[in-house]
Amino acid sequence: VSRVVQRLLEYDPETRQLAGLSAYGQGLGCCTLDELVTSARELVNCVFLRQEETLCRELGEWLRYRAIFALLPEQCLFGRPREEKPIIRAHLETLGLEPEDSLVSAIKLVCTNFRAKRESGVRKMGIEDVRVRFGHHYRRILGEQNDRCCYCGVPFVVEESTQLDHVVPFYLGDDPTDGRNWRFCCAPCNRGKGVYPYYSLGGVSLNWLEPSSIPKLSESVRFAALTRDKSCSVCGTGPTMASLLVTKVIASGCWILDNVQTVCANHALGPTP
Ligand SMILES: [Zn+2]
Ligand SMILES: [Zn+2]
Repeated sequence: VSRVVQRLLEYDPETRQLAGLSAYGQGLGCCTLDELVTSARELVNCVFLRQEETLCRELGEWLRYRAIFALLPEQCLFGRPREEKPIIRAHLETLGLEPEDSLVSAIKLVCTNFRAKRESGVRKMGIEDVRVRFGHHYRRILGEQNDRCCYCGVPFVVEESTQLDHVVPFYLGDDPTDGRNWRFCCAPCNRGKGVYPYYSLGGVSLNWLEPSSIPKLSESVRFAALTRDKSCSVCGTGPTMASLLVTKVIASGCWILDNVQTVCANHALGPTP
């Protein structure tokens, strides 16, 4: 397991390759699970100023969404192998994973979908397609979301402000018309999410500020905080009930992911500005 974790830690979302450890300096040279847990505890105490369970959840998400690409052989994404399963099995074995049939089949499906989207130029469905062609799903989803953005809870006041979000990213999954892969979000949340399945795959490090950047909350950090916290950090109110804001934890700190939290309007002016 520790070897797999180590490989996952080396994954570089920019290049979709596993980077060498040297790229990270000495920091990630550790990698038994025990050491990882110890590092996480230290991070909680020294750096993050957060609840341990928050950090554990975050690590879990991080590993889960990186694992998707670490598990996919490059040849099956960008080549045209006649037999995919042997390649996938060999890749899993290289990672130290048991190549179970169900896992191999699942990986094959993801690779097939990815390739099909890339090669066929199939157009991703948009909100207008759903509204016009699948009106019943359109109304049902709006009802479930209480006419609000699924991430930040902002009310959809005009139809143009509503955008279609694919739960399983379009390039990895299908675009089933039964509505189960659709959610609606606002434009800033959609831009913040970008093409990535989750904030953890973002091409920018969310705790890093370019010297040229202006001191404000970026859309990707905002989106990252919303998907990490999922509701008001004070009262737990979720996006179906209220608009959620992302504010700083420590006012004198920077707008980085580790220094922001999600709050509802009532708690935006609470004890932590
Ligand atoms: Zn939103
Ligand atoms: Zn609240």
